[in-house]
Amino acid sequence: MTPLEAEIRKIIAVDGPIPVAQFMALALGHPTHGYYAGRDPFGARGDFITAPEISQMFGELIGLWAAAVWGEMGSPDRIRLVELGPGRGTLMADALRAAKIAKEFHAALAVDLVEISPALRRRQQETLADCGVPLSWHASLAEVPEKNPLIVIANEFFDALPVNQAVRGKSGWHERMVGLGDDGKLALALHPDPIVGFSAMLPAELRDAPAGAIWEWRSDAWTADLGRRLVRQGGAALIIDYGHAGGLGETLQAIGGHGFAQVLERPGEVDLSAHVDFPALARAAAQWGARVHGPVTQREFLTRLGIETRASMLKTAAGARATEIDAALARLTEEGPRGMGELFKAIALAGPKLGALPGFG
Ligand code: SAH
Repeated sequence: MTPLEAEIRKIIAVDGPIPVAQFMALALGHPTHGYYAGRDPFGARGDFITAPEISQMFGELIGLWAAAVWGEMGSPDRIRLVELGPGRGTLMADALRAAKIAKEFHAALAVDLVEISPALRRRQQETLADCGVPLSWHASLAEVPEKNPLIVIANEFFDALPVNQAVRGKSGWHERMVGLGDDGKLALALHPDPIVGFSAMLPAELRDAPAGAIWEWRSDAWTADLGRRLVRQGGAALIIDYGHAGGLGETLQAIGGHGFAQVLERPGEVDLSAHVDFPALARAAAQWGARVHGPVTQREFLTRLGIETRASMLKTAAGARATEIDAALARLTEEGPRGMGELFKAIALAGPKLGALPGFG
């Protein structure tokens, strides 16, 4: 049994079964035993590899995107560049290096990094030690001062935010809980009482879903806070993640040691994530008056930002590494339902004063 499972069992013993979202929040974010608390899961030897770890081109293009957006905003003297869940800090390091060519943008920058994991925070401090811009760390977006316009970047962040699940029963939707099964192991079970007023929360076309149907949803808190800040302070947020276009079904999955694992087994030692519901995210931001751009596929987004030209430039400079650069370009833009270029989508949220944004056509 993992140390976190022992903790979760104590909670269940006192409170009874806990919602899937609470299980996910503990599994990832428990301060000492959570998945992100003590480990660096990224890169070729970790559990998975993210776009900025595949190639420097990803972060560089995002840095140039941010500089262009700053220009669209009227080049304000001060701009907050916020990253949610910066991992190893690779994306930010590549972005800041590339953005040096936009000297005034670089000079206007202050960077805020929102990170819950102490281990990853240390890693980010190392990666960004010589970046030449002021850096601050925060445990949540709520801690980022509500001052100055902002540009927010979040790559593979929203998929790590906890999801709730409900299953359609005869008399309504029941929340899925984590409790103990007859064999004494952690097990999924439905809350005996239906959730009051749940159907009204669902998109109209799903209200007549058949018994057994599963609906997954996330708290709107992060998106709502982003939308509100973008409208109040001005600016834009770029969110890149794998996700779907709404609808029924469960996507919660566990990854450990480069392969799929069981969601309830070895809590704290496997990564949990769930697809991002882009329409839900767009609705939550729009409620606060933010404009929504996209989603477009990662392939479209990176191609419009000029990833092919960037790759050619790098190849000229790097010579021997040409094959590696071609492989990274192919991987980041790969087509097909399992290709990163298509599975991952980019969506931008923006204050109402901003018009078109680069990469969104
Ligand atoms: N953006 C990085 C890492 C993605 S993994 C990359 O693309 O490589 C998710 C990141 O979000 C990790 O840094 C994790 O520690 C952080 N994280 C997860 N949940 C969080 C939360 N609730 N608050 C702040 N950071 C969180």
